[in-house]
Amino acid sequence: MFQHQALLRPAIYGVAVGDALGVPYEFMARGGFRCTDMVGYGSHRQPAGTWSDDTSMTLATVDSLRQNDGRVDVDDMRRRFVMWLCDGMYAIDGNVFDCGITVREALRRGVGRDGERSNGNGSLMRILPLAFTDASDDEVRAVSAITHAHATSMDACVAYVHAARALLEGAGPREAATTAGYAGIWERPASAVRSTGYVLHTLPAALWCLTTTGSYADCVRAAVNLGDDTDTTAAVAGGLAAIRYHGGSGDVPRDWMGRLRGREIIESVLPA
Ligand SMILES: [Mg+2]
Repeated sequence: MFQHQALLRPAIYGVAVGDALGVPYEFMARGGFRCTDMVGYGSHRQPAGTWSDDTSMTLATVDSLRQNDGRVDVDDMRRRFVMWLCDGMYAIDGNVFDCGITVREALRRGVGRDGERSNGNGSLMRILPLAFTDASDDEVRAVSAITHAHATSMDACVAYVHAARALLEGAGPREAATTAGYAGIWERPASAVRSTGYVLHTLPAALWCLTTTGSYADCVRAAVNLGDDTDTTAAVAGGLAAIRYHGGSGDVPRDWMGRLRGREIIESVLPA
């Protein structure tokens, strides 16, 4: 049903662990804290291992693809996003404590936002499962457009899916970043890497973290330590890093996997 299905589970856990690592520090300024381990409380007052909207919407996307034999059904995905936002489906304890403005408005109105200012990372953060399907670029755009219908957001999702597919095919981080249109991103100084919720900050920031570190743990810690939209930058970077390092010494630390909350929700949407 999924392509490279053996790597789907690691990739989804890579998103969730990165998300959970960043949740306590969301909105905090770079340099004002130092993330080294999975801790609790902080910005959203959640226990350690709590992941947020990034992972919930990723799980809703996986669930939709699985229920439709790996095919994209945007109406079904939208329904699942609404069930998450309104009913707490795919959320730990049914508690939705983090949701972007564009996502909320788009789901309430039933139409994706396409204004220049509606280019947050709210579709990028949940698009990774599409890399495990044969979805066309237009289908990736359509999935983004459920909430984020501006070309900037839709194109960022396509670029990210291409990078993930390159990694799935065995490419290295630099080749994957180049595939996404960010050749040489690894030469950028940290001071030139921004990490707000703007999609064109998140995508290059995630690729910078991937290409300037040598393990999953170092990649997601670097992402969180960029500050600001810590959970999403780490979720977007973490999904790629988990693919890259799966099965090797740089893999997702077992300790972090063990402390992740809501693992039964994650397992419930993954194919057996
Ligand atoms: Mg979040």
